Amino acid sequence: MNLELSEEQEAVRRLAEEFVAREVTPHVVEWDRGENVDKSIVRKLGDVGFLGLTIPEEYGGSGGDHLAYCLVTEELGRGDSSVRGIVSVSLGLVAKTIASWGSEEQKRQWLPRLASGEAVGCFGLTEPGTGSDAGSLATRAVRDGDAYVIDGSKMFITNGTWADVVLLFARTNDAPGQKGVSAFLVPTDTPGLTRRTIHGKLGLRGQATAELVLEDVRVPATAMMGAEGKGFSLAMSALAKGRMSVAAGCVGIAQAALDAAVRYAGEREQFGKPIASYQLVQELISDIAVDVDAARLLTWRVADLVDRGQDFATAASKAKLYASEAAVRAANNALQVFGGYGYIDEYPVGKLLRDARVMTLYEGTSQIQKLIIGRALTGVSAF
Ligand code: FAD
Repeated sequence: MNLELSEEQEAVRRLAEEFVAREVTPHVVEWDRGENVDKSIVRKLGDVGFLGLTIPEEYGGSGGDHLAYCLVTEELGRGDSSVRGIVSVSLGLVAKTIASWGSEEQKRQWLPRLASGEAVGCFGLTEPGTGSDAGSLATRAVRDGDAYVIDGSKMFITNGTWADVVLLFARTNDAPGQKGVSAFLVPTDTPGLTRRTIHGKLGLRGQATAELVLEDVRVPATAMMGAEGKGFSLAMSALAKGRMSVAAGCVGIAQAALDAAVRYAGEREQFGKPIASYQLVQELISDIAVDVDAARLLTWRVADLVDRGQDFATAASKAKLYASEAAVRAANNALQVFGGYGYIDEYPVGKLLRDARVMTLYEGTSQIQKLIIGRALTGVSAF
């Protein structure tokens, strides 16, 4: 693996850094306090091509490889994880899955709109009763002529109240021994689909996380993505790539923690000297720095495997597991460097810690990543 960025990759990273400084950083505290990122950010993300990364140009995408995608995701995560999550879901979990598994008609219908930011996508897998055990979901889609009628509910759906389309997973077959989950692309203005924003999140407060309720939601049979009964494997393949994106976002959080800790330690004086001159403060900073490097290398390795067409699922679980735990540690260490000032939101590190915490929970908790890695190593499923 070549660890040197190409000119193109460095240019896209710089573009993302500048975008964040201009469009995100000035609003971070306001969006976090108000629990609301300004939705106009979506169009801006589309205009610079970030919502079309890795999507072929013939479908309105901006191309690029997965390392470029990770670099942009890292910079967005360094700026604001709420904004990063919009891209990780609308592009990472929805558009990229349509590009891999969608019919020609589905690609033409959704990809140009998702890549430009004209439309937003959300990923509807989790339900009130099923989180880690996603395969036992209860939302049901029943065939009725040339349509499916869907009933059920979805919980914790990122972009849920903003989205124009939900990549929805529903049970189409109950026969014993059948993995009867199928995937559907459901426009969110379909009658019978209602949404409720979930307020009071610890972190990612700017993000529109929602509960979706589906009552007699009728979609044409052509809304099914992939073959009937293949929805669960489709969801797992989307999440494997999604974990790379979460890991990159976590690298961004850890890098932001490092930047803030180094800057503050140089400015803040106690006992007549900058706190950077104390060995115990340097220990906190060096621990963050090692976590940043290790998490970034694991993440880039996944991008490299994806770009070379090799198996990447276990590497993605390792990167997501390590980077999410590292982001929590890094933000917590940075908060310690800030002392009491770290505990108020005029300073950046408290938000980094709140945002980092969910990374060990979604797209598979840390325990679930360990079970995936353990199964790959031993050949035994411990789920
Ligand atoms: P549970 O599965 O109930 O787990 C509870 C605890 O039990 C955890 O510690 C878990 O690790 C442990 N556990 C469970 N099973 C095992 C086992 N076999 N062995 C060991 N330990 C186990 N979902 C979507 O579909 N789309 C989204 O866009 C989305 N966005 C989200 C955004 C936010 C802010 C949050 C908080 C969640 C989001 N989720 C989304 C849902 C998320 O993926 C789930 O919360 C996650 O999968 C965990 O499920 P759960 O919360 O039901 O926890």
